Amino acid sequence: MVCLLCGFDLGKDADGNNIKGNHSQRTCTMRSMPCMYRLLPTSKFFKPGGTVSYLDKGCVHELKCPRCRAVGHLRHTLRITDELYARNNAGDPIRVKEAGFVERASDYMYKKLDDPHAAELKADVVGKSYRHHAVKNRLAGTAAALAGNLY
Ligand SMILES: [Zn+2]
Ligand SMILES: [Zn+2]
Ligand SMILES: [Zn+2]
Repeated sequence: MVCLLCGFDLGKDADGNNIKGNHSQRTCTMRSMPCMYRLLPTSKFFKPGGTVSYLDKGCVHELKCPRCRAVGHLRHTLRITDELYARNNAGDPIRVKEAGFVERASDYMYKKLDDPHAAELKADVVGKSYRHHAVKNRLAGTAAALAGNLY
């Protein structure tokens, strides 16, 4: 399965089936959403009725961007538009295939980001994901080898 945010893809196994990993756009480190209560009411992701007092901790709604000093996003908070994202059953934004991967400055809320930097962020996430997967496989292989020695 291809991660529609960063493009991470484990490919297919010898039988042509998608290799399953635990990386998807639900778990991708690139998934940094804006506060849905603070979106424009015209957005299909706008959640009405929220007040800051009972919103999730960790939401960017009152965080200040260290770069541009605006409140409500961090440098890597994604810009959620109706064209690039669809709503899943829970109402959460899911990147659509037609949008391509998140690799342009316009994909982020931080306005001064440039395209090369955005591409770098994506490459970094994909690289780390492949390394993480490789390490996990190696550890699994080592564990299997150890088990083989023991029994
Ligand atoms: Zn990803
Ligand atoms: Zn919020
Ligand atoms: Zn900013």
